[in-house]
Amino acid sequence: MSIAHPEAAIHGAHLTIDLAAIAENWRRLGAQAPHIPCAAVVKADAYGCGLVKVAPVLWRAGCRTFFVAHASEGAVARSALPAATIYVLNGLTPGSGPVLAAHALRPVLGSREELDEWAALGGEMGRPLPAALHVDTGMNRLGLTVPEALALAGDPLIQAAGIDLLMSHLVSAERPDESINRRQCEAFGDVLRAYPGIPGSLANSSGCYLGEGVANDLLRPGYAIFGGNPTPWRSNPMRPVVRLEASIAQVRDVAAGDGAGYNARWRAPGPRRLATLSIGYADGYPRSASGRGHALVGGVPCPIVGLISMDLIILDVTDAPSARRGEPAILIGDSLDVDSVGHAAGTIGYEILTGLGSRYVRRYVESID
Ligand SMILES: *Cc1c(COP(=O)(O)O)cnc(C)c1O
Repeated sequence: MSIAHPEAAIHGAHLTIDLAAIAENWRRLGAQAPHIPCAAVVKADAYGCGLVKVAPVLWRAGCRTFFVAHASEGAVARSALPAATIYVLNGLTPGSGPVLAAHALRPVLGSREELDEWAALGGEMGRPLPAALHVDTGMNRLGLTVPEALALAGDPLIQAAGIDLLMSHLVSAERPDESINRRQCEAFGDVLRAYPGIPGSLANSSGCYLGEGVANDLLRPGYAIFGGNPTPWRSNPMRPVVRLEASIAQVRDVAAGDGAGYNARWRAPGPRRLATLSIGYADGYPRSASGRGHALVGGVPCPIVGLISMDLIILDVTDAPSARRGEPAILIGDSLDVDSVGHAAGTIGYEILTGLGSRYVRRYVESID
């Protein structure tokens, strides 16, 4: 296997994003509750995968409702999705109202001030502008408290602020045994009953696998669409989306006791063959994976040795006979899924995806294999 893209020769690394897998993962998530629609969370440039490329693919797959974090992301999403419903999770930040209205974006309102301001803007426009209401059922982050939401039920402000969706967010959805899941479902159910006729949405990626009580009226996954495992308690039901390869710049043999990289953080325990890859932390591959991560060379897992540099990573390729200049090493892909790469870096796959750099060649394909 070799790097086929001609541009790859002048870049260090090569990112392939499988758009067909993205559409298929979204369908698989929706199949967890086939009687209700499934939205797509595409914040942070579609989890690093490229909002402008990804959004139309999801639209063609049948997705009609999208969530981003910021109004600025919403404006980009609108350019790619002229007819979609687009919610802005971080809500009505001060001064963002005119931009939200201009792009027909729906803020997820989380406080009395936001409700008042959005209702006032609707008043100026001569009609309520649509929005969602965020109810905080345990995160203590954004949203009205449950008592605040219950107290506002039936208040004319709810209609004036155009509330067409109630939303809450799960604290520990990826841990199905945590009792907070049930408590949040119950609290959110209480709120939904107080707002008859307004649909509710609670389930993120992992929430889609927590059963009926969580689904409500709209699924709201993000991470799993992009190949992350929504069920860390068992194997990943999603197709991989991202593949990151870097080519070997140089191979060398070192003797026992030789150091490698800055501060000679690693020393060869015996005669070893090392390969240096054209990728580093400036490409979004985390430095915290130094001495912990792996790359695949000819299918052989090769440990990252020494400290990851800004533009280079050193591998121990002693057990990988195919290692030579120009050969690709896989940093994400095959057995190295985003979750395991995140784990090796002491973080989560979400951070690996959203940190994917803009420095390498990006190639969008309909299928990786
Ligand atoms: C990011 C986010 C989601 C999507 O969560 P995933 O775990 O990526 O599926 C859903 N809802 C809210 C409020 C979010 O911030």
